[in-house]
Amino acid sequence: MLQAVVWQDVLVKFFTTYGMVSLRYLLFAGSLFLVFYVWKKRDFFRFKIQQKFPENKHVAREIGYSFLSLSVFAVVATFVFILRKHGYTKIYTNFSDHSMGYFIFSVIAFILIHDTYFYWSHRLMHWKKIYPYVHKVHHRSTNPTPWAAFAFHPIEAVMEVGILPLMVFLMPIHHYAILCWVLYQTGMNVIGHLGFELYPSGFVDGKFTKWHNTSTHHNIHHKLVNCNYGLYYNFWDRIMSTNHARYQDEFENVKARSRAAEQVVKPVMAESFAD
Ligand SMILES: [Zn+2]
Ligand SMILES: [Zn+2]
Repeated sequence: MLQAVVWQDVLVKFFTTYGMVSLRYLLFAGSLFLVFYVWKKRDFFRFKIQQKFPENKHVAREIGYSFLSLSVFAVVATFVFILRKHGYTKIYTNFSDHSMGYFIFSVIAFILIHDTYFYWSHRLMHWKKIYPYVHKVHHRSTNPTPWAAFAFHPIEAVMEVGILPLMVFLMPIHHYAILCWVLYQTGMNVIGHLGFELYPSGFVDGKFTKWHNTSTHHNIHHKLVNCNYGLYYNFWDRIMSTNHARYQDEFENVKARSRAAEQVVKPVMAESFAD
């Protein structure tokens, strides 16, 4: 009887977690997809990094694999939940257990450690003995949409979410700090796969901004494969010299094209107002 109740708890936890991660993904990826690929498709086309839209079958594949990955994420999150319940993790729930300064530090540490974890696990995924069987699934999107953010082979999904069980053993972490990281990583992943460049001209060589990745950075990774491996920041690609040599040029090309398109649109609008 006790066993049945425990399994019931586990199943309830899994399905509520799967529902929540799916809802969050629908909000992030779905809303940006609706704006950039449906509603304002024409208006924003000048910001499109690759000047074409992917076929619907590719978008459907991205959505299918993403929801498969989300189920893997929910399994791992449920596993962490069980461990926490039995006191095996360093997750804390009372804000009074640590200072607010520590809370902020833990969120930043989580993001920076994840950035390093992602870079090196991503390099591993590109190893020729693994790539064709696992990571190739993600690279079938050569012109990604926001739905590609979590379009992984299930093995890669385990690797991606592996940072979570690692972090909850590594340092004391409040469950809201985990939520901050979840929101940040979902948002940044979706923006990385957006397919449109929204950062301003000069961003890639700005004194501070050059350390932050752009949508163009990851778009080049999907198009050319063996370069630009980083997630949030550009530290590791700079240290390991893995940025594509023409990354900055490509970014500025996209910006120049969007400016040129704006200048064509403005005189046309001025003429129509003069009529
Ligand atoms: Zn890759
Ligand atoms: Zn990607």
